[in-house]
Amino acid sequence: MPARDCLFCRIGSGQIPSKVVLQDDEMFAFEDINPQAPVHVLVIPKRHIGGLNDAGERALLGRLLETAALVAKKKGIAESGYRVVANTGREGGQTVFHLHVHVLGGRQMTWPPG
Ligand code: 5GP
Ligand code: ZN
Repeated sequence: MPARDCLFCRIGSGQIPSKVVLQDDEMFAFEDINPQAPVHVLVIPKRHIGGLNDAGERALLGRLLETAALVAKKKGIAESGYRVVANTGREGGQTVFHLHVHVLGGRQMTWPPG
């Protein structure tokens, strides 16, 4: 999908407004529109990458997870605990095909996930 048609490319570039949690030159973190927990933030690379299967760059994946941990700290759930999820592909439940991780917390998470 070309980046111009991608929802998260538009959010990451500020074309579509979102509740920004933090950002840097490469990463963008914003509140999920349909939160599944008291804290539910999405972290994306600003550059378009379709999903985990397309993310060949170790450095970028490292930054993505590092940013997820920074989000948890900023939202005050680093110590209580949180979950980082990368839904991937159809059976993984991915609905937006721009690489992202969910940072979920502020309540007890259950296992197994649905
Ligand atoms: P996925 O299902 O691909 O893992 O996650 C996509 C997430 O994006 C969902 O949790 C959904 O609520 C969120 N989402 C979809 N559209 C928007 C939007 O326009 N704005 C924001 N902030 N989140 C969105
Ligand atoms: Zn995109």
